Amino acid sequence: MTAGLLLCLAALSACDGGSSPEKGGQTAQPPVAEPSKPSAGSGEPRQAQDTGSLKGKVIVIDPGHNGGNAKHPEVINRQVDIGNGRKECDTTGTATAAGYSEAAFTWDVSTRLARLLRAKGAKVVLTRNDNTGVGPCITERAAIGNRAKADAAISIHADGAPASGHGFHVIEPLTVKGHNATMVPASRKLGKALRDAYKSGTGMPYSTYVGTNALNSRDDLGGLNMSTVPKVFVETGNMRNAGDAAKLSSASFRQRIAASFVTGFVQYFS
Ligand code: ZN
Repeated sequence: MTAGLLLCLAALSACDGGSSPEKGGQTAQPPVAEPSKPSAGSGEPRQAQDTGSLKGKVIVIDPGHNGGNAKHPEVINRQVDIGNGRKECDTTGTATAAGYSEAAFTWDVSTRLARLLRAKGAKVVLTRNDNTGVGPCITERAAIGNRAKADAAISIHADGAPASGHGFHVIEPLTVKGHNATMVPASRKLGKALRDAYKSGTGMPYSTYVGTNALNSRDDLGGLNMSTVPKVFVETGNMRNAGDAAKLSSASFRQRIAASFVTGFVQYFS
């Protein structure tokens, strides 16, 4: 275990359930938080190139964090059961140096993705309805996918790792006391499909600071531990890295992210 790895682990836990000074009280509004537009990014050369139908598939999209979380610590700091321990209900998430919040980013990408998936016939369920509320807790985010009997679920995030690291990674579940045993193999397949599609669709490189070939397995995330349906997290880039932040702050890049995930889901179901 290297010092560098320890740094990364600290940063990761901050993003998805821990607490970190750099993430506390994050309320700044994004400089490019324009509303999602269906036509945004339409000039990009690499839109979803697949033609596969997703008719009949139930896909749950979990936009990480929520825009109102920072103002309601009494709600998000409540401890919840994540199967192998207890953890905060939710966290504020990270932000770019310019103040574009992870919550706003994940909401924007999720709404773009929902639109594209529905156009392919999928039934899409989002775990939150806007970016002004609080939560829901990470356990409820998993429960929403379970109740929907989702064929697949994705939790969308951006990381708050040290600024020197860049790139994306997919977080896959580990079996936790049998809670999620049946979904782990399918989640690994889903994770690889989304990783491959994300890399080819966005050009974002594999993470330089965590995982192997952009794949990382964890058992400390309630959203994965409590899921009984195939589910992965995608840390789409490092918001604390200037290069990644510039990409994630671009509306056209976010449209490419959404299109790449569509390709990944089509691949997963094919
Ligand atoms: Zn996050």
